[in-house]
Amino acid sequence: MPLFGRKKAPEPDILHFDAHELPEPPAVGPDGLRSMEDHRDYLLSCIDELPPFGQQILDSLDLSLCEDIVAGISLPGFDNSAMDGYAVHWQDVAEATDDEPVSLPVVGEVAAGQSATHRLSPGTAMKIMTGAPLPDGADSVVPYELTDRGPSDVLVFAPVNSGQHVRRRGEDVEEGELLFRAGDRLGPRSIGLLAAIGQDKVLVRPRPRVVVISTGSELVEPGLQLNSSEQIYDSNSYMLAAAARSAGAQVFRIGLVSDDPEQIRQVISDQLVRADLILTTGGVSQGDYDVVKAVMPELGLTDFAQVAMQPGKPQGFGLIGEDQTPMIMLPGNPVSAFVSFEAFVRPAIRKLRGATPYSRTPVRCRAAHPMTSVVGRKQLARGIVSLDETGARQVELVGGHGSHLLGDLSRANALVILDTEVESVAAGDEVDVWLLGEEQ
Ligand code: AMP
Ligand code: MG
Repeated sequence: MPLFGRKKAPEPDILHFDAHELPEPPAVGPDGLRSMEDHRDYLLSCIDELPPFGQQILDSLDLSLCEDIVAGISLPGFDNSAMDGYAVHWQDVAEATDDEPVSLPVVGEVAAGQSATHRLSPGTAMKIMTGAPLPDGADSVVPYELTDRGPSDVLVFAPVNSGQHVRRRGEDVEEGELLFRAGDRLGPRSIGLLAAIGQDKVLVRPRPRVVVISTGSELVEPGLQLNSSEQIYDSNSYMLAAAARSAGAQVFRIGLVSDDPEQIRQVISDQLVRADLILTTGGVSQGDYDVVKAVMPELGLTDFAQVAMQPGKPQGFGLIGEDQTPMIMLPGNPVSAFVSFEAFVRPAIRKLRGATPYSRTPVRCRAAHPMTSVVGRKQLARGIVSLDETGARQVELVGGHGSHLLGDLSRANALVILDTEVESVAAGDEVDVWLLGEEQ
């Protein structure tokens, strides 16, 4: 298959891995299952944050800073006018009223980007525009609205206080002030502030490049015709590519790969050059055609586990190729794949990005109705969170436990997390949920 313009590499070019070992995997329970948290922490312990690089400030939107930023200049950088008006000595206009305005000669004008040619003597006024430096000698600004706007002599109808309508040097940001810390995520306002202090580049962690691959001989690309009743459209690679993008990754979605060991070897080997993380779905269960599980140990260090969660029990992880590129192999059922993404892949992407916390923080929510769960498995059920009549969050389950129920998944806005030991939840009990709408 064509892969970003490169010709299919001959067999000897396929990377075969022959280095050491993955760290000792976490212990399993008496049922042979690994806990979801253990599996996540194990993956994260094998994945490093991406190295920092210098980036233009606009391109660093949503990225994590890798340096502290100290203001090299003050903001404002000089005393300047907050209004269009007249720079004055406040005592000169202290007695001004509508009935008895004060008249001052206008001795000059200063616009933004200029500076006054001379010092303002007492008993005079200088026209000044918003943002223009306050002339030496002046201490306040009378806005146009309080004057007759006279060009050579101005009538002032109201007093101003000392310093009024003047923006003082450093009143916003002091030179030397710590503005951002390493680890902060840059949003639009942070980028504005960086520009305001004259900084055009920052050291950030890049967006991880995530390659998303669906495996399965039954899969057909959306937009094409289904040719037989056994075929289905590939939904996983689109869903996961979108999820990875919304978690902050730069995503490369690869065309479908059939359950052919040779093709899987080839595609993974080809993709390693541009991946910080490879994500596959399908082929990691116990079936005869679960070829991802069969092939990947040839290409790197792998770990296949049964995780005490529902859905999403079969999970695969690897460090693949010479660079030990992390690879997460998710089960093929769409709901299992999505839930596994939330449990393992989102934290992995966030670690690569240096974005903490790595995992979603659960929120507490009132169960709208009784719920049941399987003891020994952490349940990640699909739910709809809404506000009840008192404004408190409540959650109801949507659809059944089936991990093929993509329609229900798309209607859900939350995953309800019922712990391994939970058997049932009564209506009104509090449960933990991950709110899916709130990205990053
Ligand atoms: P597997 O994990 O490969 O055994 O797949 C489990 C189930 O998920 C099967 O019913 C597959 O047809 C389905 N499945 C696997 N991959 C995809 C995909 N990319 N999109 C939609 N369904 C899939
Ligand atoms: Mg399959």
